[in-house]
Amino acid sequence: MPYVYGPVHSRRLGFSLGVDPVPPKTCNLNCVYCQLGPTSLSRGTSPAYPPVSAVLHETRKALTSGSTVDHVTVSGSGEPTLYPDLGPLIRGIKAMTSTPVAVMTNGTLLLSRDVREALCQADAVLPSLDAADNPTFNRITRPPGGLDVRDVIAGLVVFRRQFCGQFWLEVLLIHGLNDTSEQLCRLKAAIDTIKPDRIHLNTVVRPPVSDWALPVPSDRMAAIASYFGPQCEVIADPPRKVQGVALGEMPELIIQAVKRRPMTMQDLTELLGAMLAQVSPCVTRLLGAGVIQSRLYQGRRYYIFDSESEREVT
Ligand code: SF4
Repeated sequence: MPYVYGPVHSRRLGFSLGVDPVPPKTCNLNCVYCQLGPTSLSRGTSPAYPPVSAVLHETRKALTSGSTVDHVTVSGSGEPTLYPDLGPLIRGIKAMTSTPVAVMTNGTLLLSRDVREALCQADAVLPSLDAADNPTFNRITRPPGGLDVRDVIAGLVVFRRQFCGQFWLEVLLIHGLNDTSEQLCRLKAAIDTIKPDRIHLNTVVRPPVSDWALPVPSDRMAAIASYFGPQCEVIADPPRKVQGVALGEMPELIIQAVKRRPMTMQDLTELLGAMLAQVSPCVTRLLGAGVIQSRLYQGRRYYIFDSESEREVT
């Protein structure tokens, strides 16, 4: 099922069935903290987007498989607002389930009326904003040719006014890059203008594309959350809820999971609802076959997928 994954336990959305309508790493940004690797598509290159009927077909199959799902989340391997049929996709999912539909977006394309109208059909939209001054914003997100963050903020403000659903803004802080008092003061002023329902404060937790992108310590994160106000919370690790899977499905589910984001062994055992003794040999086998790789980041070992070394699992 290349267009649907999970359900995975998301820190913000509970058990989330992921719908991924864009080819791997299709994005208009190239964030230093991205878990998906560097953005390789240059501007003007047109990715091969899947037909909406194929994405909806797989979504329907996943929804009828019996798993408990708190949200159907359009997200995945890049920026979903680049998908040309985002509106029909959200409409189609909502026609097949009463489960709320969420969209995770980098929030940079909201000045487009088409993008806003598509997103307005979702129940929750989770955009990002990591800085409110141009040098910092462009240093973090590295869009080809640069972006004016005032346009990004204007898009967030106009969409917030138009959208009737839940609007949860994510702010990702990087140690020494966007966490000075002056930068946070500007960001707070922008957020006060945007008026999100919630602010989710995050930091670099999983291996980023740039090794020098470091996390902000937890006590400082708590102090910054308090500065942003009562609707702000530091995103905590997910509680240990599990959904069991059959052993035979495990290799493919591990591959699909690490394709979407780097995972620790604990992440995998929680996701799969399996014991360490079951998951660990399977991970070792995939490592040995070169299907997945491992990487140490901040003292924790993550399992990652490198598409360049994709091989058959036997
Ligand atoms: S973090 Fe999101 S917005 Fe940034 S480069 Fe990766 S996919 Fe794109």
